[in-house]
Amino acid sequence: MLKKILMCFSLLFVLTLAATAQAKPAELTGIEAFDLDKDTVRIEISYRGERLDAGDVSSEFSLAGMKLDLDNTLPGRVSRVSGIQIQSGARSLVDKIFVNKTQERHTSVRINFKSEVTDGDATINFEPANRSENKDARIIVDVKKSAAQEDDWTSTGYFGGGRVIVLDPGHGGSDAGAIGPTGVTEKSVALAVSLKAQRLLTASGYQVVMTRTTDVDVAAPGVPDSTELQARVNKAPSNAALFISVHCNAFSNGKANGMETYHAPTAVKGARLARLLNEELERLGGLSNRGVKAARFYVMTHSQCPASLIELGFITNPREEKLLASDDYQQKLAQAITNAVNRYFNQGGFD
Ligand SMILES: [Zn+2]
Repeated sequence: MLKKILMCFSLLFVLTLAATAQAKPAELTGIEAFDLDKDTVRIEISYRGERLDAGDVSSEFSLAGMKLDLDNTLPGRVSRVSGIQIQSGARSLVDKIFVNKTQERHTSVRINFKSEVTDGDATINFEPANRSENKDARIIVDVKKSAAQEDDWTSTGYFGGGRVIVLDPGHGGSDAGAIGPTGVTEKSVALAVSLKAQRLLTASGYQVVMTRTTDVDVAAPGVPDSTELQARVNKAPSNAALFISVHCNAFSNGKANGMETYHAPTAVKGARLARLLNEELERLGGLSNRGVKAARFYVMTHSQCPASLIELGFITNPREEKLLASDDYQQKLAQAITNAVNRYFNQGGFD
C-alpha cells in the first residue's frame, strides 16, 4: 500500500514536471519605438502567451546600445524584416532593433542607440494585455534622451577653436595599398580625400596636422610596418585632439562593397568618433554600411588621443572604385569627415 502511494506521488511528480516543461513559451508579436514625450523614447515589445515579469528579463548596456535577454519567449513572427517599427520621432535616438532566437525558449532583443545610453537612462516595466484596446501584453522600455541628443545637424555656426586634428592618409610612396580593377590606388584616394578634409576642417577653425601631404612613405621605403605606422603616430603633437586614418577596403571578390569605421577595443572616445564618422559617411557617401567595429589596428592602439580608422569603400569593387576616384565623391567624403569632427566637439560634451 505504502509502495503504491509512493508510486502515485512519483507519477504525479513526473506528470507535473512534464506539464511545466511543455508550457508554451510566450511569442513576440511586435516591437515599436516611438516618442512618448520630448524627453523619453518608449520601446514596446508585445507578446502573447505566459505573462513575463522581471525574472524573465535581463538587460545589458554597451557602447552600441542595449541588449534585453528574454527567457521563456520565442521571436514569433517578429524578425529583422517584419514586426519592428521605429517611428520617425524615435529615430533621433533609436538606430536599429534586432531580434534573435538565442536558445530554445530564449530570445534576445538588441536596440542600437545613436547616442550613448546607460543603465540610469532606461526603465523596464510590464503591462498585461488590454483587450478593450486590442493590445497584447507588453514589456515597456522607457529611455531618457540625454542632453547630448542629436538633432538634424549642419556645420554652420560651429568652429574648431584651434583644436588639432591629425589626418593620416593610409599608405603612400612605395606602398600603394589596395589597387582597383582599373588601377586606382588606395594611397591616392586616401590622400585626395584627406587633403580635401584638411581644407574643410581648416576653414572650420581647426588646425590640421597631416601625416603626409604627398605620395611618400612617412618613415622610409621598405621599413617594417610597425616602423612606418609608428612614424605616423609620432606626427601627432601632444595636444592633438583626434587622429583619423583614411583607407579603402579590398577583397578578392569584386562584389564586396560598403564602408565601415573602426576604433580600438574599449576606447570610449574612439568609439564615439568612429560612430559619428560612420553616420556621416553613410549619410553623405551613401554606400552600404558595414558598421562600426573594434579592431587592434596599430595607429589606433598607439595613438595618444581618440582615434578612428575609416574604410571609405571597396576599391576592388568596380562601382565603388569609380566613385572613390571622382572629385565630387571625394569632396562628399571630406565633408562627412568634417561634419563628424564638428559633431564630436559640439554635441555631447566629450571635449
Ligand atoms: Zn589601407
